[in-house]
Amino acid sequence: MRGTQHQIATSTPVDAPPPLNASAHALFLDLDGTLVEIQDRPNEVHASADLRALLRHVSDSMSGAVAVITGRSLGDLGEIIGGAVDYAAGVHGFEIQRGNRISRDQIEISQLEAARADVRRLLEENGLAPLVEDKHASLALHYRQIPAAEEVIQRIARDVATTHGLRVLQGKMVVEIIATARTKGHAVTVLMAAPPFLGRTPVAIGDDRTDEDAFTAAKRMGGFGILVGEPRPTGADYVLPNTSAVAIWLAGEQN
Ligand SMILES: [Mg+2]
Repeated sequence: MRGTQHQIATSTPVDAPPPLNASAHALFLDLDGTLVEIQDRPNEVHASADLRALLRHVSDSMSGAVAVITGRSLGDLGEIIGGAVDYAAGVHGFEIQRGNRISRDQIEISQLEAARADVRRLLEENGLAPLVEDKHASLALHYRQIPAAEEVIQRIARDVATTHGLRVLQGKMVVEIIATARTKGHAVTVLMAAPPFLGRTPVAIGDDRTDEDAFTAAKRMGGFGILVGEPRPTGADYVLPNTSAVAIWLAGEQN
């Protein structure tokens, strides 16, 4: 058993969140679909100068208690938001960044290497060419370009993960074979254990299934989650309709 992932959904929120409280809250923000619009290809995503400035401003006003928690690698994230926040987690909690310090989970690379070879072979056998993103601890198969192949690609991912004792994470038009048992919830929990997060109320914001782990962790520590997008059953307590609404909510922080 490679650890739990998505928690059981509890309700469908309809309310907008209370205002951001810069002196009391700690923020855990997803990137794609939360801060920036999802693009056809993940490498087409860019953060505007306005967004980077907003994140820097919010982080400064919250004594640094802002982290971006993403499925992307930290290297990839850094290229997009370029040091706008001091704390981050990459590959769903596999890597955690505190300032200049990065820690990574210990994983069994050989399992993933065998899985890589199997995925390559099975995709080829099925004549499928999704965008394959190799994130060292995980292999993400993006099929936004070939949505009709969803079922087959998901089955390949599940079969390969089962064969090699790995975990599968399902996101929006992407399925990931991942070698770490860590989740976004883990990232929230470990960052909350030390300053500048310690003692604050965690608020997790995200749009996808993997964000549910962050919502659950935030809630367990007395905070709340904010789902971005259409209301749906979730562990989050509040909802914001889109990335623009997230930016407006962040900009409206109160001291
Ligand atoms: Mg997302």
